[in-house]
This record gives sequence, C-alpha cells and structure tokens, in this order.
Amino acid sequence: MATTEKTRELRTGKTYHDDLAIVREELDKCMKCGNCMSVCPVYGADKLETSVTRSKIAVAEAVLDGELELDDPQVYEMLFNCLVCKSCMTNCPTKVNFDRIMLALRAALVRKNGLPWLKKMIFSTLKHPKLFDAGMRVGAALQGLAFKTEEGGKAISPRSPFARIGGPIGFDSEKQMPGLNITPLRDRVPEVVKVADATMKVAFFTGDSLNYFYPDAGQDLIDVLVANNIEVHIPKAQNCCGVPVLVHGDIETVRTLARNNIDTFDKTGCEYLITGCGSCGGAWQHDYTEILAADPVYGPKAAYWAKRTYDISTFLTRIIKLRQPTGRIERVVTYHDSCHLKKSMKVSAEPREILKGIPGITFKEMSAPDACCGSGGSYVLSHHETSAVIGRKKAEDINRTQADTVSVGCPACMMQLLDNVHRSGGKQEVTHFISLLAESYRREKTGKDSGR
Ligand code: SF4
Ligand code: SF4
Repeated sequence: MATTEKTRELRTGKTYHDDLAIVREELDKCMKCGNCMSVCPVYGADKLETSVTRSKIAVAEAVLDGELELDDPQVYEMLFNCLVCKSCMTNCPTKVNFDRIMLALRAALVRKNGLPWLKKMIFSTLKHPKLFDAGMRVGAALQGLAFKTEEGGKAISPRSPFARIGGPIGFDSEKQMPGLNITPLRDRVPEVVKVADATMKVAFFTGDSLNYFYPDAGQDLIDVLVANNIEVHIPKAQNCCGVPVLVHGDIETVRTLARNNIDTFDKTGCEYLITGCGSCGGAWQHDYTEILAADPVYGPKAAYWAKRTYDISTFLTRIIKLRQPTGRIERVVTYHDSCHLKKSMKVSAEPREILKGIPGITFKEMSAPDACCGSGGSYVLSHHETSAVIGRKKAEDINRTQADTVSVGCPACMMQLLDNVHRSGGKQEVTHFISLLAESYRREKTGKDSGR
C-alpha cells in the first residue's frame, strides 16, 4: 500500500472498502498500456475491450469524477464481469492493485443502493452459523429431487425439468458438481484430534466448501497432520471466511464474520492456523487485517493470525519437515494453480514439491497452470457462458497432459474443473493435492487403495 494511501486510511479510520476515493492513487498508476489484456481470462473469452482491466479502471475514474453513476446498468455489468482473479496484477508494469479498485467499487455500490434482496438474505444467513448449517443440511436432504447422482454418489447433474429452469445459470442436464454431504466434516470429527507425543498443535479453518462439499478432503488434511504427529483443533463455532461476501461489497457482514472467526480461533490457544483453500487462507492472511485495520481490538488480533496462517502445503514443507510418504500411487498427475492460492497466498512450489515426493506419481505440468479456471465464486452462475469458455480452455490444457488426475488446492476450483473436465469428455479425477498425500500414507499400512 502506498504511504499516502495508508496515511489517509489512518487519518480517516476508513479503508478503501469504506471510501472509494482511497483508490485514486491506484487508478493514477495505470498508464493504459494494455499489458493486462494478454492475461485477463474474461477478455480472453469475449475479446471485448470493456472486459479488460484498463477499461474498468477508466470507468472507476469516471465514477470518482462524477461523470458516471455506479448503478448505471452498463457500469454495473462491467463491475461484475470480473473474476477478481488478480491475473492482471501479475502482468502490470506499474503494479496497479486492481483487486482493491474492484472491491472498492463494489463496496461503494452497496453503500449507495444496498444489496439485492437475494444476496442480502444469503449473506445474513452466513452470520448465523446454526441457521446456515441447518439450511445446508436441508439442501443435502432434498438435492436428490433436483439432481441425479452418479459416480458413487459424488457427482450430480440436474434432472429435468430443473435442468430447463436452471439452464440460464448453467445448471443444464450436463452439469456436474459435488453433492452436499448430509454429515459435514465438522460433525464427523471431534473438536480436538489428539495425537500421542504430539510435537505441535494447530487449528484447522475448514471453510464452508471443505466442510459441506468435500469433507473427505478435509478429513485427509487432518489425517496428514496426524501422520506428522500434530494435534489438530477444528472449532465447530467457525463460520464462513467471508470472501464470497467481500467480493459482493457487503463489508459489514465480512467484518462480523471475521470477528467471530478471530474470537473462535483465539480460544484454541494454537500457534498456527492451517487452511486447505486459497480463498480462506487469503482472507486470514490479508483481508481480515485490511477490513479491521481501524478496529483497535480486532485489528491487532487479525494481524496476529495473518502471520500465523499457512496453507497446508506451506506448513508441511516450510514450517515443519514433512514426513516423506512411502506408499506407492501409480498415477500421472497434473496441478492447477488456484488464483487465490498462488496470487494471494503466494503458494505454488509447495504443492508440487509434495506431489513429486509421492512414490509412483509421475508429475506432468500443464500449459499455463496458473491461468484462471473461470470459477470466480458466483461468477460461474452470473456469467456462466463466459465462465464455461474459460473452463473449457483449462480442461483442454489438462487433457493435453494426458494425466489421469488433476490436483488442486482450492475447493471452488475443484468444482469448476469437475464440471468442465466432464463436459470436455475428459476422464481425469479431480482431487485436492492433500488427498494424494493422505492416500500415500494410508498405503504404507495397507499397500493398496483404501477405497475412500
Ligand atoms: S497492465 Fe497495468 S498499467 Fe497497463 S493498462 Fe493494465 S492495469 Fe493499466
Ligand atoms: S481481476 Fe481477472 S477477470 Fe478481473 S480484470 Fe483482472 S484479469 Fe480480468
């Protein structure tokens, strides 16, 4: 953050989430060179100048100068036709922090007009974890009415007539996604998984996706920590990380979620906080400190946890010395770099290091492994046609490797890849990289696939 920007934030007690004028310096850094065009996935899909970063920056300037209104329908569409993937920031010669600009614009829009009723209802449910949990369980119980179950109950696609109704948001009859689990991860495991002679204790922030959609991967992460003699705390009172709300500009709800999570993890007494999702980890490492910067109580607490939050791969390879697995897994594996994991948490080498250390795995790099998969949280629903074009390109890159497995470090990307690999006729299994490590440890004992 530039010094003057920081000074203004300290003077006013506001962040760019509260005051659009704070991003003026970021706007001024843009020289409209167009380098962002070559890496922006949305522009790559639709080839429209209005989709490119520099056009959105020009719109932000016009809004700040009073020449355009935020709720102008065309401005609104430009604001939300963005994955907030940070790809443009990797190719920008003047280091424009475009994510700040986009989040500041969306927050300003919410301050001006409030949230649409559906978003308001969903986001307020997130602030009541028991209510949200009950809703997810009802969804898990009723999903069979709208979806058909395939592949051992894991992948589902919409039944007719739901496919006809859901078609406009991408829920057509070909849609593949993981099923919601009746018993989420945090109900499957105790709050503390003890280990005899534990060398350390850590807290695991599961996030909602690992909790409800991929509890097996969450269990694998716990098993890996236990296999490395680490006691794991999984507080039941944790709630959503808030990133799905942050990208829609509802900052006060994110602040509530962040404070609840900080209180919950303070109580664990753990030294480290571990995540298995780039969005969740990015929230703890960066977003909480930014949105709570002016909060005298929670600002310092957020900063404390920011320094102690690690993706599971970084924790295993940089903080402790990973116990090298010896169980063989005969697979050809490729790896997709999730945007939040690589561009926010700066995690890229570590998952590859883990995968290459598993006996039997042949690692094949895909072309442009850090190109966005097109998920973008709700972007996959609001702009499903563009998302599908981006996802198809990623599936083609995966297919070209001839790998039989595509591994990922972020559950949202797993969902997008599952759907797009299926649609492109690929047969790859989509899995969290930690599940392959857990499988290797299990095979040390059994010598064969545990079949989980
Ligand atoms: S690459 Fe950076 S400086 Fe160039 S147009 Fe894009 S945002 Fe502006
Ligand atoms: S954040 Fe991603 S989608 Fe949005 S303008 Fe930048 S590169 Fe394009």
